[in-house]
Amino acid sequence: MQTFAFSTVPLEPGRYREALAEPTAGGYASFEGWVRDHNEGRAVRRLEYEAFETLAVKEGERIVAEAVRRFGVTRAACVHRVGALGIGELAVWVGVSAAHRGEAFAACRYIIDEVKHRVPIWKKEHYADGDSGWVNCERCAAVADGRHVHAAEHPLAAAHRHDRIDQAASGGVPPLPPPDYSRQIALPEVGIAGQAKLAAASVLVVGAGGLGVPVLQYLAAAGVGRLGIVDGDVVEASNLHRQPLYGPADVGQPKAEVAARRLQALNPAVRVDVHAERAEASNVDALVAGYDLVMECTDNFRTKFLVNDAVLRACKPAVFASVHQYEGQLQVYRPLPHWPCLRCLWPEAPRDGLVGNCAEAGVLGPVPATLGAMQAMQALKRLLGLDAGETPALVIVDLLGVETRRLAAQRHPGCDHERPGTTPAAEEPGDAMPAELELDFETLAEAFESGLELVDIRESWERAHDPPGLQIPTHLPLSELVHGRAEFPAEGRYLIICAHGVRSLSLTEHLRSLGHPGVYSLRGGLAALKS
Ligand SMILES: [Zn+2]
Repeated sequence: MQTFAFSTVPLEPGRYREALAEPTAGGYASFEGWVRDHNEGRAVRRLEYEAFETLAVKEGERIVAEAVRRFGVTRAACVHRVGALGIGELAVWVGVSAAHRGEAFAACRYIIDEVKHRVPIWKKEHYADGDSGWVNCERCAAVADGRHVHAAEHPLAAAHRHDRIDQAASGGVPPLPPPDYSRQIALPEVGIAGQAKLAAASVLVVGAGGLGVPVLQYLAAAGVGRLGIVDGDVVEASNLHRQPLYGPADVGQPKAEVAARRLQALNPAVRVDVHAERAEASNVDALVAGYDLVMECTDNFRTKFLVNDAVLRACKPAVFASVHQYEGQLQVYRPLPHWPCLRCLWPEAPRDGLVGNCAEAGVLGPVPATLGAMQAMQALKRLLGLDAGETPALVIVDLLGVETRRLAAQRHPGCDHERPGTTPAAEEPGDAMPAELELDFETLAEAFESGLELVDIRESWERAHDPPGLQIPTHLPLSELVHGRAEFPAEGRYLIICAHGVRSLSLTEHLRSLGHPGVYSLRGGLAALKS
């Protein structure tokens, strides 16, 4: 076991204790720090810890090594929680095994005191009526009362927000503060794990106009790791009233390039890829292949259907929107066999020019802004896995009457979805074999076409290196399910997938025992599939 570590999941003192056991040790002392429900007279509801892990781990390891040397103990270790914690949760654990109890107690006390004062960990307390902000840093408190000087000389001092004034005073250009996603991380459905999902995600935005601008701004601000902008146009003066990412000085410049610069300034942590070209039949597949999710934000039907057909071929989710005067339409596509595509709703695909676009019909800026914001919301839901129970629909937004209508959408029987060998919904597995726990599929494509929704329960790090053609959009890490931070949908038909079919089988058995009839495990996991 590492002598000092951070954990984003609940601590397991029993397991750590075993790792410290030694035949030569006659004593073991441990300290557990718990989250309590009050601090300085205020009722605390929950709290968050954040650390600059690389440097914090080094300092923590030094402290443990000092304790071992100083008190001559056998073994010692410390694990600190980071992320969102509830009342009563274990925030920090210290364990020491030693020949005798005296040095075990002393080393244990030394480690927890030094960790509190020296390891750069930020804490945010949430009260019934607000939060403390990221301010309650033990290290700063220690400096303030004169017991320690670590903060001033610590390499992390520069990164610490309390010290920003000092940097400015020292004459240099103060570095930008790191992105602060705390207001979205605070949502229990997002959390640290959700933020990590956004950071790992990539989204292609086709069209950087009235819809694309709010989509790009909100996805960049939310910390989506990589954004691709497809737009072959230049900024025109007539765009500015509804595309406020651009200004008069940008007129005549390529939109994709200007947008990328602005987004980079908005959130330097996000990578922005520029595709200063129109989406065409010749490039659309290559563009779509490089991203997890596609946002269709153009104002022409030719491109919308081009993108529709490309996401069907690539089995990628997409979010479509369009506006016409005071009305807008929103449609989400998910790569599921029963899920309707754009052509299912518009079997007679309108040709360009048949329906007025903004140039001909006129538009007020907030109309595409509203639809773009709704698209961005759908994208975040998809990336965070918050749309598991959602059914296909066409959402119509009337900005004059301020009304939203949701029309259930169905797959058009005549739409072949451009996919080879699609299986009609009636042939979904399960009805004939309710007792079967495991299903066999040769390829992921075959599994996608089974009528079951594929759910990847591997951890994020296991998914990080999946090749583009082998990505499963729906992700519910087993760790999140086990620790109650995510719930498996109570209804629906799912194929649960992990690396080798072991974790997925045990989860399937568990869900069946809870009365969920529609869950199956992919036998042998991803390792059993032919590529
Ligand atoms: Zn269709």
